[in-house]
Amino acid sequence: MKVPAKMRTFCPNCNKHTTQDVKIEKPRQRGGGMSQGSRRMARWTSRIGNHGRYSRRPIAARNMTSKTTKKVDLRITCSECGKKWIRSRPRARRTEIARV
Ligand SMILES: [Zn+2]
Repeated sequence: MKVPAKMRTFCPNCNKHTTQDVKIEKPRQRGGGMSQGSRRMARWTSRIGNHGRYSRRPIAARNMTSKTTKKVDLRITCSECGKKWIRSRPRARRTEIARV
């Protein structure tokens, strides 16, 4: 799916339609650092033998191949007030910005 680099759409701050720049928002890492769960897992897996519930593959890795499309968030910037908004796009194999 191609997305126009500039589109005229509603700005909630200006309360009217304005020309807005479109960029694809990069997915960010959530959390960061050691949570209680990851500390517990590190303690378990440092031992010899079966790691119990931590021997199973994590849910995130199990679901990795289940979907072939991705939802993409767009960061749109109002050219009049400079405010930024996030708008999500429907699922597509590839989302790219069309440069004219
Ligand atoms: Zn605006």
